[in-house]
Amino acid sequence: MVHPTGLKALLAVVWIVLGVCPLSCAKENDTAELDWEAQRDGMVDMLVSRWDLKDERVIAAMRNTPRHLFVPEEVRAYAYLDTPLPIGHEQTISAPSIVALMTELLKPEPEHIVLEVGTGSGYQAAVLAPLVKHVYTIEIVEALANSARNILRRLGYENVSVRAGDGYRGWPSEAPFDSIIVTCAPNRIPEPLVEQLREGGRMVIPVGEEKGPQELYVLTKERGEIVKRSVLPVIFVPMRGEIQQQKSQ
Ligand code: SAH
Repeated sequence: MVHPTGLKALLAVVWIVLGVCPLSCAKENDTAELDWEAQRDGMVDMLVSRWDLKDERVIAAMRNTPRHLFVPEEVRAYAYLDTPLPIGHEQTISAPSIVALMTELLKPEPEHIVLEVGTGSGYQAAVLAPLVKHVYTIEIVEALANSARNILRRLGYENVSVRAGDGYRGWPSEAPFDSIIVTCAPNRIPEPLVEQLREGGRMVIPVGEEKGPQELYVLTKERGEIVKRSVLPVIFVPMRGEIQQQKSQ
């Protein structure tokens, strides 16, 4: 006979595979027993082989970052499945594979000053934090910026600064940045972000329409010119704020 808890877990996985998030079946008691570290290791092993991750520092950061503490309690049981999860305010934390890939594409170095647009849960910033000197991250939903700031502080990430606001205009007082990572999709590359990238710097950014195709790009600034390389098709939440208002004018 299948144990009821086992059956529940199996159903949860099936529902996730079908694209439906089974919020109601993730009870706190169910998750309390789970061995988070072992789950995280298992997930990272899978990511390394499936996505051919090569940067050992990035792999170590993925192993050490407690994703389950960055997601709401209702979905905590699924924190180490390679899937996006809801974080409230109609936003999602990206799938771990996309976080690992984008982090690797950024080529983080210990002396780098990095800008993130779209703090969300704070998880991507936490993955980056041990790999660089400082992460500046901007989130347009004030409640998300506040909760990300709180969890990052509680977990002891001292080199991450979180600001509530529209990331379209970047963070001019801290520019230029060695790299910029954008985790929401504008319909075109925001010019202020290009300006705030240092010569030789890299930007990893999804670009596309809200319901249309989106593509992940790596931009490099070489002798003042932007060189754009397309990586793969992706699905991100849209960049909101000024860029959308400009579009409707
Ligand atoms: N990096 C996040 C994923 C966030 S999803 C994580 O690790 O959890 C994308 C986020 O971008 C959402 O929280 C959304 O509110 C935010 N966002 C959308 N438009 C924005 C803008 N113009 N400036 C800053 N943040 C924005």
